[in-house]
Order: sequence, then structure tokens, then C-alpha cells
Amino acid sequence: MGRKDCVYRCLKKRKRDNSAALKKATEARMKNRLKRLEEDSTFRSDTAAVPGTSHTSDKSIDDYTVDGTRIIDFQYFWNQLINISEHSEKFGCKLNYLKICKEKQVGLISKFDIKCTMCGSSFVLKTSDSNTTEAKLDLNARVVSGSIITGIGLSNLNEITASMDLPTMPFRLYSKKHDAIFDMWKAAAEETMLNAAKQEIEAAKSRGDINNAGIAMIPVEADACWGKRSYKNNYSALSGVAAIIGENSGKVLHIGVRNKYCVMCARANKKGQPARPHKCTKNHSGSSTSMEQAILVEGFKNSIKDRNLIYNILIADGDSSTYKSILESRPYPDIPIQKIKCTNHFLRNYNGKNLLL
Ligand SMILES: [Zn+2]
Ligand SMILES: [Zn+2]
Repeated sequence: MGRKDCVYRCLKKRKRDNSAALKKATEARMKNRLKRLEEDSTFRSDTAAVPGTSHTSDKSIDDYTVDGTRIIDFQYFWNQLINISEHSEKFGCKLNYLKICKEKQVGLISKFDIKCTMCGSSFVLKTSDSNTTEAKLDLNARVVSGSIITGIGLSNLNEITASMDLPTMPFRLYSKKHDAIFDMWKAAAEETMLNAAKQEIEAAKSRGDINNAGIAMIPVEADACWGKRSYKNNYSALSGVAAIIGENSGKVLHIGVRNKYCVMCARANKKGQPARPHKCTKNHSGSSTSMEQAILVEGFKNSIKDRNLIYNILIADGDSSTYKSILESRPYPDIPIQKIKCTNHFLRNYNGKNLLL
């Protein structure tokens, strides 16, 4: 049994245990309540004395016990409580007349259906605002965003929430929020890179580095990294990322990710079936080292179209194959691209070779 299966089973078992405990607690509470109501004759006569409240007899409303922990957006929750507490001056309704009838959970956000046992009014009380705006993500999106930033996935996240006795996040919701965050981050990254390009254009124009057509020419740094360390002999990483950075601003102008693996395609392959429609992450089929070349060539070829810039000087590591690929792609037919070796890489390689002696 895989670790993931084990984790899911543990979570399922915990949820089952929780609901069994919840059922028991609710039954016990109901019994106590009925007993108390039988004993407390004054409460019964008071309720009956209020005109029009016969349909809201205390016995007709099932008590719902909120089991476990919830995260609340405090001010949002507080404002709702104040509104609810002021709902009826006529009957002098107070907060302790309210009963929770139902809870609907959407990930970590809960929505409670509440009823006033005095006047019969119904309310909705939410733990957190579920509207996602550009300025503020909803709680579920924030939790998923935190998971991505810290490098954990859904299983780890649910381990944390289960340990805190919080509701767990369903796979579909996690996936939906994950895709939405990806689109937002992509748009934000593109905007940031466009601003960096504008900064580079201004600097290049003030230096007078422009070609005949008036396009700014700038020196750029480029480097890549992979999901797995090669230790100079094992280049088998399944994913790689590379970036082009403006030398003047030190800001990223182009970034690309290449993957040789997609879990959905791999699973379908194993079963010998066609994969069902999905957002495929596989976008590379060559060697792991060629990922860097593919991303940088793409950056150079699209530099005029996307950034209105010409990268005429490349500061990079000693790898000549990437430089060769860029030259072969002929991104700028009239402008030669010069290569300068990066001091950091030069010294690191020099040290590495010295150690081998
Ligand atoms: Zn009321
Ligand atoms: Zn795929």
C-alpha cells in the first residue's frame, strides 16, 4: 500500500470516527435538552406567551453541534453577529435564542443556517467571505496558495488540517483553486516582466544602445535549474526552469518551464488507455539539458515581439551548446549576439576542475 493511500485511509477513518462521535454527542445533548425543558416549566410558559411564536417551539428545531475547529475571518464574522443580534427589537431577541440548524462546508469555509427560537427568523452565518477578488483571495484559495509556496500538496495540507481538527480540503476544490491561482500568478508575472522591460528600454535609450529601427539593445544574463541535481553526470531531471534577466535592472524578462512528465498521461499510458481531457503539463520531449536551450531560444526569438527589446549580449555559464542554439535560431538577422562568460560560473567550474586534479 502506497503512502498516499495510507494517508487517505487515515483521514477517512478519522472523519468516520469524528462523525460517529458527533452523532453520539448530538444524541446525548438532545436527551439532556429534553430533560431540561421538561423540568423548566417557566421557559415553556414564556415561549407560549409570545404571540405568533407557536411554530418556533424549541423542540421543533434540531440542535446541530459544531464539531472541531473552524477558521474565522474575525471582523467579517463579528459584523454578521451584530446584524443578527439586532434582528428584532419587537420580541427582544437575543443571541442565546439562536440555534444552529445546519452547516455546509466548502473546504475550510463553513456556512451555518441559524434560526431564532423566539421569532422564527432564519439567518446565514459564514465563517469567512467566499468571494475572491483581485485584492483578496478567499480562505480556500489562500490555503492552497500557501501550500504551493511551501512546496506541499493536498495530502500534506490535509494532514495539517486534520491534526488541527479543521475540515479537510476536497481534491476537486483544491484543484480548482490551484488552477485559478496559477492563472493569477501567470498574469502577475507577465505584468512584472513587461514593467522590467520598460525599465530596461529607458536605460538602454539613455545609453544610446538602440538599433537602426529604434529598438533598445541590452545585455542579459541567462541561467537554468532543474528539479533534480545532476552532480555533473546524471542529467535525468523531469522538469527544468530557465530565465533571462536584464543586466541593468536585475529583473526577470523571460521565464519558462519545461516538463517531460505528466501524471495523467503516464497513468493512462500504464493502463494502455487514452488520457481523459486534462491540462497537460508535458511540454518537452528532448533531453533534460535541452530544456534550458528550448526556453532561452524561445525568449530570444520572442524578445522583439513580447518585450520590444534585442538581447545583443548574453552573460551565461560555460555551456556553449545553449549559445550555439540561440545563434542558430537567428533571432535578430542583422544584429550579432555576443557571449560573455559569467564570473560566478567561471570560478565555480575552475574550482571544480582544480578539485579533480
Ligand atoms: Zn428573533
Ligand atoms: Zn498530460
